[in-house]
Amino acid sequence: MSQNDWQELEKKLFLRTINRVPVTLVRGKGARAWDDQGREYLDFTGGWAANSLGHCPPVVVKALEKQARTLIHTSSQFYTVPQLELARLLVEHSCLNRVFFCNSGAEANEGAVKLARRYGKLRLNGAYEVITAYNSFHGRTLAMTAATGQSKFQEPYTPLPSGFINVEYNNIEAIKQATSEKTCAVALEPIQGEGGVNIPDDDYLQKVQGWCREKGIVFILDEVQTGAGRTGTLFAYEQYGVEPDIMALAKGLGSGVPIGAFLAKEEVSVFSPGEHGSTFGGNPLVCAAAYAALKYLIDNNVPAQAKRVGNYFVAKLESLKQQFDFITEVRGRGLLIALEFNQEIAEKLLLACLSRGLLVNRLKPNAVRFMPPLIITEKEVDKALGILRDALEETRKAK
Ligand SMILES: *Cc1c(COP(=O)(O)O)cnc(C)c1O
Repeated sequence: MSQNDWQELEKKLFLRTINRVPVTLVRGKGARAWDDQGREYLDFTGGWAANSLGHCPPVVVKALEKQARTLIHTSSQFYTVPQLELARLLVEHSCLNRVFFCNSGAEANEGAVKLARRYGKLRLNGAYEVITAYNSFHGRTLAMTAATGQSKFQEPYTPLPSGFINVEYNNIEAIKQATSEKTCAVALEPIQGEGGVNIPDDDYLQKVQGWCREKGIVFILDEVQTGAGRTGTLFAYEQYGVEPDIMALAKGLGSGVPIGAFLAKEEVSVFSPGEHGSTFGGNPLVCAAAYAALKYLIDNNVPAQAKRVGNYFVAKLESLKQQFDFITEVRGRGLLIALEFNQEIAEKLLLACLSRGLLVNRLKPNAVRFMPPLIITEKEVDKALGILRDALEETRKAK
């Protein structure tokens, strides 16, 4: 089938939830991917920050092959080794003590909120409200739509589950004002990903943690996008000198396999048997893959590499900003980077990059986002920058 046939088929078969980029990807290796016409691309979308080790990382492929021949799935009634090994690795390398595995970021956050509510019921006189931020993104379930402080996600589905209060991000006073005896938790992204790669003031999360401790409420960090090395440390909280009580993970955790998790400190781990569960969560196949990915990431200090190459990338983008007056801002930490414009040219730029062999993400009408694999090299960044410069040139002429 040709590219157009696949597009026609998609139009016929799918619910219209997304405007796809007109490319059918059939193969990937490291930072590169190929379409069904044999064209090669540098992939700076990283599967929405999920492909932390790039496409088809050999350690993950090997773990999948081996586990697929051994044991793919059991119910969670039984002990399975890959799940235990992954949990141990996560606990050893984080400030948290206990783990629950699920299948996605939305589910990880759902679980985190359920645990905080359970804690509220048992320890905080039935407090159940969770304070979250405007421009946040916590997932697509109904409850996480209520948690996600963006009206474009909320309005189509009202009425939403109650118990969520959205307040301004990077504003501790807003959290203080929204806190009442009904509050059981504050849930934030350390850096807002989907909402624009919004980086808070250095002391914001510390202030939030201080407030949560003062009030005895649960401090939740949604590290679904920032976790697993994306921002230059294994978890973003490390850079802000805080320790969440609960942390949600997904995206990069499995380097491409669908896995989510939430981790909790001992003190808030108040679930009793039967109060939460998942059929596929933590199954041997995905856990073996995620273990291999995370082990590689840690053993090879991939987060430090992401930090170094990310700094290099940001510095080069800053110099592009000097040359193109419609670039208004470069924002980023590690390899989570956004480029913002004073005009709505993201789509045009995306297509100009695409035709030259670079895949980027349209973050907003006036911003693009880069989430390349964490193993990207400076040389690959240079190649992407060359394409980006030409694409910016074309976009400037076209406007
Ligand atoms: C992507 C994302 C989610 C949702 O993850 P899914 O796996 O798509 O459910 C939640 N929180 C953050 C911060 C995210 O970036």
